[in-house]
Amino acid sequence: MTTREAACSCGQLRLFAEGEPVRISMCHCLACQRRTGSAFGMQARWPRENVRIEGRATEYVRVSDDGEPRSFFFCPDCGATVYYWTEPERIAVPIGAFADPAFAPPLVSVWESRRHPWVSVPAAERHD
Ligand SMILES: [Zn+2]
Ligand SMILES: [Zn+2]
Repeated sequence: MTTREAACSCGQLRLFAEGEPVRISMCHCLACQRRTGSAFGMQARWPRENVRIEGRATEYVRVSDDGEPRSFFFCPDCGATVYYWTEPERIAVPIGAFADPAFAPPLVSVWESRRHPWVSVPAAERHD
């Protein structure tokens, strides 16, 4: 089974994801723009039992517009976010943490009302 490794900038915090992700998505919302410092966020999700984490992480909880808590985990040394969850049974990993240009493209694109107009979206299954 494929195991992919994600890491923070300094390598202290690492995540190992087994098998294929159950969802790959991009999000154009303003909270993702602030968190990533980029024009959009992009993440893959795995069932929690397929993910192993090594290293120290600091948790930041952001309450969504719908009032639901979202937990983000970042390296306390370099500040890079390596995983988060929006639903308890799945862990989301920002694609950039894999540093793998061959990673599969997103099939879901959300919050397109906040999309930077120059960002083109791959042939996604779902837009909202
Ligand atoms: Zn780090
Ligand atoms: Zn978002």
